[in-house]
Amino acid sequence: MTVRSPHSHPSAAPASPALASLETPLNLLALSRGATEQFVHGLGWPRYRAHQILRWLYRRRVREIGQMTDLPHADRARLMSMAHIRRCTDCQILRSADGTRKILARLEDGLVVESVIIPEGRRLTLCLSTQVGCTLDCGFCLTGTMGLQRNLQAHEIVDQVLTAQDSLERRERLTSLVLMGMGEPLANLEAVSDAITRLTNSTWGLGIPARRITLSTAGLATRLQDVAALGINLAISLNATTNEQRDRLMPAVNRLHPLDRLLAACRAYPLPPHRRLTFEYVLLAGVNDTEQEARRLARLLRGLRCKINLIPFNEFAGNPFRRPDDATVSAFQAILKQAGYDVFIRKSKGRDVLGACGQLGRLPVHQEPIGLTPVAGRC
Ligand code: SAH
Repeated sequence: MTVRSPHSHPSAAPASPALASLETPLNLLALSRGATEQFVHGLGWPRYRAHQILRWLYRRRVREIGQMTDLPHADRARLMSMAHIRRCTDCQILRSADGTRKILARLEDGLVVESVIIPEGRRLTLCLSTQVGCTLDCGFCLTGTMGLQRNLQAHEIVDQVLTAQDSLERRERLTSLVLMGMGEPLANLEAVSDAITRLTNSTWGLGIPARRITLSTAGLATRLQDVAALGINLAISLNATTNEQRDRLMPAVNRLHPLDRLLAACRAYPLPPHRRLTFEYVLLAGVNDTEQEARRLARLLRGLRCKINLIPFNEFAGNPFRRPDDATVSAFQAILKQAGYDVFIRKSKGRDVLGACGQLGRLPVHQEPIGLTPVAGRC
């Protein structure tokens, strides 16, 4: 049975204009740091009040203004009369046999955003989405088949982290974040930057170190510098070793940012000391997985401070590509290793809940209404 909380119904129409203003108060989470400061200034409150509010939202993860106990009573009451904290209360968590958890969270307009918690030894990584769907039409990616539904707003990106944190068991802590879920983060850079500020700020934000955050791009070459400015790590989904092949596999991005320009931008990237770029390479059986391609990849990346993540293709219904066998993947890895690279094979986790790379979107979400289970106050 699907039960919904009244606040989360996407099409709940307000009965009258007066009610509308009551039913759609300002969402404090939708304000950037600057906007929160302006808001507080507009109320004639001291500047530090903004930091108090931000700290309650992100460090303490409260869902009610009433819980902001270091605000004077009168200020709290005034804030409650005009604003609220609109966290996601309508979500479902799918647990994979391998421990991976996929979180489906319904947004205010009814669209569903997906994030994935991936345990790996002592690490616990959260894979975040930055768009619902994607404009790029990479031929091996399920999200691409949805088209772009819309960009996520900064607070919708951050709320995926808050929701994941709330769902963790007592002894669990997220160790890293990867912006590798649905969408192309560099196509939604403004919201992504704002979200990164809230995630990394250590006085009022979530205090997640920037070095623990990685943004993965399909290769928007002209925007790589903006990632450097954020201080987070950069991963590039290369996936091909020639322009012709990349045109076939990733037509939308490669037409605008061809391979040579992308690699030139990587070489010009101001990599901080002790950091390196990550190159991701989806291995498609019989398409880009030959030993010749491994050697070409080694040549292309020569001189770049980087590591390589090989991702054996995760198959999905209706897609013609196939996953190479383990021997082919190992042979590809061995050639790159011999050439001196650190090469990792991305284990495919969460495939039974469609939580693996390239499996976010559509299934099972869009086949039938999901029985989202709202849990009052918590997801
Ligand atoms: N748009 C960004 C982030 C989303 S895709 C990007 O392209 O990097 C995250 C990673 O999953 C990318 O490296 C992409 O190449 C890979 N990927 C997409 N579909 C896949 C699939 N079906 N199997 C394996 N990896 C896939």
